[in-house]
Formats: sequence, structure tokens, C-alpha cells
Amino acid sequence: MNEGTQNQSASNRPNTASEEPVIYGYCTWHCGYSADIRVINVDEQGSGPGGVQSACLPCREKYDLVPFSDRP
Ligand SMILES: [Zn+2]
Repeated sequence: MNEGTQNQSASNRPNTASEEPVIYGYCTWHCGYSADIRVINVDEQGSGPGGVQSACLPCREKYDLVPFSDRP
């Protein structure tokens, strides 16, 4: 008869505790847009846009790519 108030811990909080934000962008390797894009290479000699190569997670695993920010 008494509904009570046991629903205070509702899971409506966004999951912001992940390690890295998921970035949606263009994957240079499979030539398409995808989520979880990471920058792999930055071509400093290139003039104008197009000097950045980014890859999605499947392509990073497939081609054994190391993100630019993860390098020493
Ligand atoms: Zn890809």
C-alpha cells in the first residue's frame, strides 16, 4: 500500500567516466566517417587541410596503428 521512496538511485546519469571521449570523425584508412576516431599522423609539411590522418578503432586494430597522442 505504501509505494515508498526507494527509487532515488535511478541510473539517469550519463556515463562520463570513460577513459576517452568518443570522437566522431573521418577515417582516412577506410575513407568514411565513424565513431571513436583518433589522430594517427600529422603531416606538418602539408599546406592547408588534409595533413591529418585519422583512423577508427577497427582500422587501428587491423593496421596496427598507434594514435599520435599515445606515442612517446
Ligand atoms: Zn576506419
